[in-house]
Amino acid sequence: MGNCIFCGKPAGFLRRRHRECQDKYNRTWQAMLNRAKEAALGLGQLDDLNQQLSVLAQKGYVPQSKVNEVLMLGWEEAVSHFLEDGNLDAEEEKSLSEYVEFFGLTQDELDKKRAYTRFIKGAVLREIMEGKVPQRFKLSTPLPLNFQKSESLVWAFSDVDYYEKRTRKEYVGGSSGVSIRITKGVYYRTGGFKGYPVEKEETIHVDKGILAVTTKHIYFYGPNKSFRIPYSKIVSFTPYSDGIGIQRDAARAKPQLFVTGDGWFTYNLVTNLARM
Ligand SMILES: [Zn+2]
Repeated sequence: MGNCIFCGKPAGFLRRRHRECQDKYNRTWQAMLNRAKEAALGLGQLDDLNQQLSVLAQKGYVPQSKVNEVLMLGWEEAVSHFLEDGNLDAEEEKSLSEYVEFFGLTQDELDKKRAYTRFIKGAVLREIMEGKVPQRFKLSTPLPLNFQKSESLVWAFSDVDYYEKRTRKEYVGGSSGVSIRITKGVYYRTGGFKGYPVEKEETIHVDKGILAVTTKHIYFYGPNKSFRIPYSKIVSFTPYSDGIGIQRDAARAKPQLFVTGDGWFTYNLVTNLARM
């Protein structure tokens, strides 16, 4: 006969818990999490939060050692709320910072699931949308880029894959069914080859490097290719889940794609800076 892992009383043959005890634990855990989340969003007191969580924990079979975990999870959920309810609320951001300070939570522990990074990204976007130049991005090593005096660096992404979309003319069809690529600088005598040109698009990986975003330009720096593009020369931005596509305002410009790993942030960052 096993004992219930929650209440310690006999749970029945081959059983380790009572269903009611498990339910009580689950409800308590959720209640603790909500309490912490609301406090992190500025909707509850910080002073006695620890105490409140301890009392809840005790009544609902949650070990006291879990209180600190709840404090962190609550903050993470509050960050998600801050980013996902459509407006980056200044008060919420302030409360989130105060909560971190009050409980002495470290950036490392809050960033295990990238929550701290997402919080900073949200704060950067809010500042840009308010017309401020964010100063939150800190470089560990200087970038090999020559910025203009009148611009400031807002963010830099490393290990960014850079792609170009290229359109090539291809001749399709003909009796033999072959297709011949018309490559620049190479002339194929087609003779009696009958075909029709079709435009075919392909995406080519060009380089991997740093994408730096400033108040005036986006810069790419890689082993094969380096360039900068002023926002005024970009006619459209395309959001992707893991990056951004841009189209420059030039007759022969090819669509350019940058895979940063975070399309949401990259797209919001760049389009809002372009509007500044
Ligand atoms: Zn039980």
